[in-house]
Amino acid sequence: MKKKVLIVEDNPQNMRLLEMLLGAKGYTLLKAIDGEEALDTATREQPDLIIMDIQLPKMSGLEATRQLRQLPDFSHTPIIAITAYAMKGDQEKLLAAGCDAYLPKPINTRELPEVISEMLFPPPKDKPGPEGDNGEPEDSSH
Ligand code: MN
Repeated sequence: MKKKVLIVEDNPQNMRLLEMLLGAKGYTLLKAIDGEEALDTATREQPDLIIMDIQLPKMSGLEATRQLRQLPDFSHTPIIAITAYAMKGDQEKLLAAGCDAYLPKPINTRELPEVISEMLFPPPKDKPGPEGDNGEPEDSSH
């Protein structure tokens, strides 16, 4: 099934770049150009992952992320923050607001798609223990 990615970005040039990068990966793309639209679109479309610019009109990406994290539907949705102005301490703020990762601008066209696919398709966790694997009772105590 195609993964839905919401791109929140108010800069048209960056938006075009992100669309090109991610469209090439075959994701279904949704777009929002300010923080309020980001919340509207996210709650309506339930994306699998959100790329969140931080400097946005109406509501910052930081605030939009905080609000999304309070909704049960978005408690675990990966959110990747992108910003040109991160300084010391900002990264902590972004992570505290609920972002899973932070990438600086200008956008690294190789790194971003990699980070996204790692989050959408995480490697399988450790194999489950022996119990429940083959349906055979194991070491039953009674
Ligand atoms: Mn911006």
